[in-house]
Amino acid sequence: MTAPSNAIESTLVENRVFPPTDATVAAARISGMAGYEALCAEAENDYEGFWARLARENVVWNKPFTQTLDQSDAPFFKWFQDGELNASANCLDKHIGTPTENKTAIIFEADGGEVTKVTYKELLAQVSQFANVLKSKGVQKGDRVVLYMPMTIEGVIAMQACARIGATHSVVFGGFSSKALHERIHDAGAVAVVTANYQMRGGKELPLKSIVDEALATGGCESVKSVLVFQRTPTAVNMVAGRDTFMHEEMAAQSTECAPEFVGAEHPLFVLYTSGSTGKPKGVQHSTGGYLLWAKLTMDWTFDLKDSDIFWCTADIGWITGHSYVAYGPLAAGATQIIFEGVPTFPKADRFWTMIEKHKCTIFYTAPTAIRSLIKAADSDASVHPDRSDLSSLRILGSVGEPINPEAWMWYYKNVGGERCPIVDTFWQTETGGHMITPLPGATPLVPGSCTLPLPGITTAIVDETGQDVPNGSGGILVVKKPWPSMIRTIWGDPARFKQSYFPEELKGYYLAGDGAVRSQDRGYFRITGRIDDVLNVSGHRMGTMEIESALVAKSDIVAEAAVVGRPDDLTGEAIVAFVVLKGPVPTGDAAKALANELRNWVAKEIGPIAKPKEIRFGENLPKTRSGKIMRRLLRGIAKGEAMTQDTSTLENPHILEQLARTN
Ligand code: ATP
Ligand code: MG
Repeated sequence: MTAPSNAIESTLVENRVFPPTDATVAAARISGMAGYEALCAEAENDYEGFWARLARENVVWNKPFTQTLDQSDAPFFKWFQDGELNASANCLDKHIGTPTENKTAIIFEADGGEVTKVTYKELLAQVSQFANVLKSKGVQKGDRVVLYMPMTIEGVIAMQACARIGATHSVVFGGFSSKALHERIHDAGAVAVVTANYQMRGGKELPLKSIVDEALATGGCESVKSVLVFQRTPTAVNMVAGRDTFMHEEMAAQSTECAPEFVGAEHPLFVLYTSGSTGKPKGVQHSTGGYLLWAKLTMDWTFDLKDSDIFWCTADIGWITGHSYVAYGPLAAGATQIIFEGVPTFPKADRFWTMIEKHKCTIFYTAPTAIRSLIKAADSDASVHPDRSDLSSLRILGSVGEPINPEAWMWYYKNVGGERCPIVDTFWQTETGGHMITPLPGATPLVPGSCTLPLPGITTAIVDETGQDVPNGSGGILVVKKPWPSMIRTIWGDPARFKQSYFPEELKGYYLAGDGAVRSQDRGYFRITGRIDDVLNVSGHRMGTMEIESALVAKSDIVAEAAVVGRPDDLTGEAIVAFVVLKGPVPTGDAAKALANELRNWVAKEIGPIAKPKEIRFGENLPKTRSGKIMRRLLRGIAKGEAMTQDTSTLENPHILEQLARTN
C-alpha cells in the first residue's frame, strides 16, 4: 500500500468554479452551503442521534429500533439491529393510499423503442404475484436467488419480489459468461435462478437462458431447484421439465397480494459482486435497514428529488448503481424513473439525447465511459450531437463509476446540461451502498473533475500509510473514519477477507476504500487520483494515474480516451506507459511515432517533464470491465510484456488485449 503524494507541481490545477444559481439554492432541499454545514454539524455533535433521526424519518419500520449502532464486534458493525422492516414495503406499499399510488413508477423503453409504463399500484401487484411464485417454488426467507436478467421492468420486479419474501438476491450482469455466472451461483449457494429466454441489445437477440443451462450443467450448482424464465422475445428455448417454468405463466396463477415478510435490519438484502477492476470480484453483502435508508436519502439529497422529476439512471441492475438508483432508491423516494433496455449507440449514438427529449427527463445519471464514447461519436458525426435534441427538461446531471476528466466534465456541462444543470460527480463503491462524496446541486460550488465534499455524516478523510491525516494538497489514501449505515457488512462467506481487505490494522480501524485522493488547498475538495495499486513512482515522485490521463484527454482535438500505468525501469524506478484511444483511426509507423512525440511533449508542458510518458501505445479501445471501467491492472501486465495470467472474467473486450500487446 503506497500513498500518492502531490510531489509534482501541476498546471492542471482546476480554477474553474461553478456555483449554483440563487434560484437553485432557494428551491433546494439542502439549501446552500449553510444547509449542508448545518447537517454536518448535527452529525458531528451527535453521530448516532443524527442517523437515528434520519432512519426514523425515512424508513417505515414494522418494529422500531432501540439501538442505533452496535460496535461490539467491529468491523462487523450493526445498525438499527433490533428494528424490523421490509424493503419492498418501503418501496411500494408505503405509497398505497397516497397520491403516489397512481403515479408512474417506471417508464420502460425497450431496445427497439417500444414504451411500457407501470404505476406504483400496478408494480406492487406484479411484485406480489412474483413473490407468491417464488414462495410456491419453496424459496424461503434467507435463501439466495440469482438473477440473470435483461434491463427490464421484470428485473426490478424480481429484485423487489425477493426482498418482499426476505430472500437475498444476487444479480449477475446479463453480459457475463456462463463461467462467471456459475462461479456466482456456486459462491452464493442459490436455490433459484431468474432469467429470460433472450435479451435485446443493439437490435440483436442475445441468449440468457442457454447460458444459465450451461452454468447449471457445470458441477456445484445442485442447490438450484427452480429456474424462472421471463419470455422476453417469442423465440423458443430449451426448458428442463420439473425445473424450468415461465415467469408470466406462473404469475398469472398467483394472487396480486402478498404480505411482506418483515426482517431484522441486518438481514442481508443482497449480495453483489464488485466489478473486478483491481482483482477477483468480491461478494459484497448488504443489510436491509441501513442500505435502504441511504438509497432513499441520497435520492433526496444528491438529486434533490422533487415529485415532478423524471429520473433516469442508465446503470444496469447488474451493478450497484442499478441497485441503489434503479431498483430501490427511486421507488423508496416515490420517483418516476426511466429504465432503458438497450445501448447508447443504437440505432444511433444519439439514443440518450432523443430519449431525454421524448420522456422529458429532468435528472440524468450516467458514467464517464458513456460520456467519453458519446463525445467521440458526436465529434465524428454531427447528426448525433446532443445539440440536435431538445434537452431543456434537464435540471441535474450526474456521473458515477470512474473519475470524470475535467475535459469530459466541461463537455457534459455545456452540451448536455446547457451550462444550466449542476453535475453531481458521485464518488462511491459497491461496498459503500450509496453516494459518499458528491456535490449537492443546490449547495456546492462545482469544480470540474472533483467530487467535492462528503455527504453529511460521512467521515471520509485522506491519510498516509499509518493512518495519519495528511494536509490539504498532499495526496494519500482515502478512508472513512466512522462506520455508516449502508456500509458493506461482510464478504459473502469470507469474513476474513472482509477484515483484511477493508480494515487493515495499520489504519486504526478506518475503512480503506482502495482509492487514492487529494484535497484541494483552497476548498478542501476531494479529487480521486486513481486506485492505490495504480500509484506511479517516477524518480521518487509519486503520482496518481488520473492526472496524466486527464492531461492526455485535454488534447481534445485528437484524444478520446487514455489510460496510464507504470512499468519497472532501471533508471527511474518506474516508467510511465500511456495507452491512448484517438478520435480518428489507430496510427501506425511514422505517423504513430510523430503523434506519440507530440503527446509526450504536450504532457510535459501540461504537468511537467517528470510526467512525460516513456512510451505511448495506440489502440482502438482500452480493456474495460463490463461496467465500462478501464482495467489498468491488465494494462500493467501488457506494459511489462507479461503473458496474461490474471483474472479476466469480467473483461468486456478481450481482443483489445492482443491488439495492445502487438504494438509492443
Ligand atoms: P473491484 O473492487 O472488484 O476492483 P471496482 O472497484 O471497479 O471493482 P465498483 O464498486 O463498481 O467496483 O467501483 C467502485 C470504484 O469506482 C471506486 O473505488 C472508484 O475507484 C471508482 N469510482 C466510482 N465513482 C467514482 C467517481 N465519481 N470518481 C472517481 N472514482 C469513482
Ligand atoms: Mg473496488
